[in-house]
Amino acid sequence: MEFDSFIKDNFGISAEVWEYAIKIEREIEHNFKEIDRITEYNQFKVLAAMQKNKLSDTHFAATTGYGYNDLGRDILEQVYADVFHAEAGLVRPQLISGTHALTVALAGNLRPGDEILSPVGIPYDTLQGVIGIRKERGSLSEFGITYKQVDLLPDGGFDFDNIRKAINKNTKLVTIQRSKGYEWRDSLSVEKIGTLISFIKSINKNIICMVDNCYGEFVETIEPTDVGADLIVGSLIKNPGGGLAPIGGYIVGKEEFVENAAVRLTSPGLGKEVGATLGITPALFQGLFNAPQVVGGSVKGAVFLSRLFEGLGFKVLPSSMEKRADIVQSIQLKTAENVIAFCQGIQKGAPVDSYVKPEPWDMPGYDCPVIMAAGAFVQGSSIELSADAPVKPPYNVFFQGGLSWHHAKIGIVIGLQTMVDKGLLKI
Ligand SMILES: *Cc1c(COP(=O)(O)O)cnc(C)c1O
Repeated sequence: MEFDSFIKDNFGISAEVWEYAIKIEREIEHNFKEIDRITEYNQFKVLAAMQKNKLSDTHFAATTGYGYNDLGRDILEQVYADVFHAEAGLVRPQLISGTHALTVALAGNLRPGDEILSPVGIPYDTLQGVIGIRKERGSLSEFGITYKQVDLLPDGGFDFDNIRKAINKNTKLVTIQRSKGYEWRDSLSVEKIGTLISFIKSINKNIICMVDNCYGEFVETIEPTDVGADLIVGSLIKNPGGGLAPIGGYIVGKEEFVENAAVRLTSPGLGKEVGATLGITPALFQGLFNAPQVVGGSVKGAVFLSRLFEGLGFKVLPSSMEKRADIVQSIQLKTAENVIAFCQGIQKGAPVDSYVKPEPWDMPGYDCPVIMAAGAFVQGSSIELSADAPVKPPYNVFFQGGLSWHHAKIGIVIGLQTMVDKGLLKI
């Protein structure tokens, strides 16, 4: 894009910052070609599933009350199952978040005396409370479900010896988190997840392999269900909702395990038969249809951010050259001032609440102040442009989302400009 007085006057972007951004954009042209190829393939996948299930506007009708005979809901679940090459799906607005969907998948498939194993280190923050790693009212540990963990090796690889040792006769379910979450570790490629699942199944083929797929959907052309996962779980206000889903979660996989989750979400004897959709089904379909494109834009933003800060001498994860496994980009910003300025800049680039200045605050459940930049149409939606950071050394910031590549770029450039304006760095 040409730089002109409109951009300068409205957004305060300087010619130096803009030129630097353009130079970076040129350096990653070939990454963008690869991302476009993945987007196109995933667009085929979503289209095929909708056509195969004969999606029609009669499926967009709202149901209320019990929600019996909600044809749109049933088709939506089959479309999700087909997109992920799975037997069955549970895709509901009553799954209120990713954490809730994971809770339902776990609670539905585990019984007292069963053990969960995480062979990829500590799970996402909210899951720690669900499992009972962190003491929390109503956690699975209160129901006699135990937990074991094997950390990743220092080089990011799987600790196969200790995983083998950790598996015992009570091990019922293995949980594998695809995205790094707020850890400074590599996110897991689908291929790597496949290796891990094969290893676990070679020890005991009856162990349920569940993948927390949050932030991973449509980043690659295959999904964990293509490499042996029995269940995958995610949030509709992240990748697969395409920015249009106003709420929801999904669970897809083997029919038996999805059914176990369904009777936990609703009631034994009712399962998937009930659950009104209240008119949001069209948004869930349209969001899924847009998701490959939206995810592609987010991944471009992540690569751009990575290259931009690599070029300024910061540590980034992953590097701009690495293959992506999720939409999250981490940068080590070295100082609290940098973190705050970057996040405030991201907020300035939002379509909603752009005039709000985020500040670090003591959020419950965290051991340090946290700053969050989010100006989203859907509250808390992190497929929309967003950045979060625990404000403590080494000052890592986690960036994700952007409903289009262009918006991701604009937000990132404003983030950088804010740091430059505060005299924190020079281009
Ligand atoms: C976001 C996320 C979750 C939880 O999802 P919420 O919708 O925020 O409850 C779980 N695991 C991972 C890896 C996530 O990124």
